[in-house]
Amino acid sequence: MDLSLTPQETKFRDGLRAWLQANVPSDWESGRNEDEMLERFNFLRVWQKKVYEAGWAGISWPKEYGGRGATLMEQVIFVEEMARAGAPPLANTLGLSLVGPTIINVGTDAQKKRYLQKILNADEIWCQGFSEPNAGSDLAGVRTEARLDGDHYIINGQKVWNSYGWVADWCALVTRSDPQSQKHDGLTYILVDMKSPGVDVRPLRQMTGESEFCELFFHNVRVPVENVLGKVGQGWKVALGTLAHERATLGSGMQIVFKRQFDRLVELSRSVTRNGRPASEDPVIRQKLAQSYAEIEIMRLNQMRAITRLSQSGLPGPEGSIQKIFWSELNQRFQQIATEVLGPYAQLTAGNGHAIDDGQWAYSYLRTRGNTIEAGTSEIQRNIVGHFVLGLPKSY
Ligand SMILES: Cc1cc2nc3c(=O)[nH]c(=O)nc-3n(C[C@H](O)[C@H](O)[C@H](O)COP(=O)(O)OP(=O)(O)OC[C@H]3O[C@@H](n4cnc5c(N)ncnc54)[C@H](O)[C@@H]3O)c2cc1C
Repeated sequence: MDLSLTPQETKFRDGLRAWLQANVPSDWESGRNEDEMLERFNFLRVWQKKVYEAGWAGISWPKEYGGRGATLMEQVIFVEEMARAGAPPLANTLGLSLVGPTIINVGTDAQKKRYLQKILNADEIWCQGFSEPNAGSDLAGVRTEARLDGDHYIINGQKVWNSYGWVADWCALVTRSDPQSQKHDGLTYILVDMKSPGVDVRPLRQMTGESEFCELFFHNVRVPVENVLGKVGQGWKVALGTLAHERATLGSGMQIVFKRQFDRLVELSRSVTRNGRPASEDPVIRQKLAQSYAEIEIMRLNQMRAITRLSQSGLPGPEGSIQKIFWSELNQRFQQIATEVLGPYAQLTAGNGHAIDDGQWAYSYLRTRGNTIEAGTSEIQRNIVGHFVLGLPKSY
């Protein structure tokens, strides 16, 4: 892995840096009240459109579908510069990191043309319908049915823990198209228009106070056969590709958030007092902050290593699971340290007049609990590393 930038990469970085300097909105971080969710989301959507129009969205996506056609290394630089500039994240998280790359890998030309550009410019927001009440870690248990009826599939069933379901225009859905099939056979990956009659979205309230994810119910939803992504009955293979992208790349977006929060916490540690003096002078706090800094650096370097490998092989491998374990557990440790630095202030939620950063810290602490569950639990990631990286026998 070569960490020095080529002249082309330096030029790319400088151009992006200048654009961000001129365009990143100041003071954009708003509170997390339930009633602010839509407003916040719409703000991030407008921001993504602006990034797209300036030519910075989909850095490594093909040019003919609205991307920049640049290298994965330039994609890494993009993430780093966004973090450095304190820029807001892009709204269409799942479209950009999961669905788009899956369509690029296995979609038909017509599907690429139909969907990719609208993912990049945030015209169409995506969600991911994989998990069901009895199929989370083990997607082999998927029961949502897709029955062929002429040139349509009729979908019936239920999904759960569906992030962005409340704002999504489209859903990447894993269904069982062969009712006789068992386990991973007979699954089909279908792109479903969330405005189709028979789709019912019910938000679920989380301990953060938000309703970020939803239950989805499908009642006789008609979906044209051309919306099948990959081959009929090969949905497991397609879904594995999506999951590998999720594990390998979701962390790169997280890095922006972690770095910004870390810098802010260091700043706060100088003004918040602990035992009568600034927290930054407390030897234990200093140790913990330094440890967090080291871990975020490790995450950054591992991300570069993963991207280097991805640029050589074209597809993310099981190593993505190592990164997923690392960033999710790192974030839980980091948010715990934040509560120690901020003391009682860390418990004040949005809307409380005394809350630091409008309750962002209480929100983040609670939200990190889901990090070791979403995109596959830590136990499942360790199983993948044990089996596919270390070659140990299967655990189940
Ligand atoms: C914030 C958040 C966002 C999410 N967003 C989405 C989304 O957008 N779309 C979507 O489809 N899903 C989403 N999910 C769901 C997520 O993918 C599942 O919750 C996850 O895969 C675990 O499935 P489960 O909840 O059914 O738990 P289960 O699979 O029932 O697991 C329960 C426990 O058993 C352990 N376990 C299970 N199998 C094994 C094994 N073989 N070996 C060792 N331990 C095991 C698990 O680690 C876990 O601790 C989201 C979840 C969260 C928390």
